[in-house]
Amino acid sequence: MLCPFCDTEAMRLRLVEERARVFVIFSEPRIMLGHLLAIPKRHVEHLSELGAEESADLFATAVEYQSKIVGRIAAGCDISQHDRPFIRQSQYKIDHVHLHIQPREPFDDLYQASRGYADLFRETTSAERAMILDRLRAS
Ligand SMILES: [Zn+2]
Repeated sequence: MLCPFCDTEAMRLRLVEERARVFVIFSEPRIMLGHLLAIPKRHVEHLSELGAEESADLFATAVEYQSKIVGRIAAGCDISQHDRPFIRQSQYKIDHVHLHIQPREPFDDLYQASRGYADLFRETTSAERAMILDRLRAS
């Protein structure tokens, strides 16, 4: 599957803003109204592959749009990024880094859906913390 975020003609139909290193586009499909994506123009599959300037521009753009959305479009706004190389690219999963900028309202559809995950939250044991710290600190 060709990368839809590298198809600049298709991108222009969804364009919110084009910057030197970053596009802001409407997410299609969307979850919440006003769901946007900030994406680097260069095809990059993992955040760790971004250059310093690309990374700075990408995050600054997402934060700027988050600020614009809060109060103008919605009461709140989430920014998220997923790195799931174990899922194949599809309409719902694009292998080109993108930050979701998601307007949020109290008790919105995402909140309602997330209530089903409440049982997944649990305390971390000291042994689990030690195991994670060992892995994070391994060279
Ligand atoms: Zn791409």
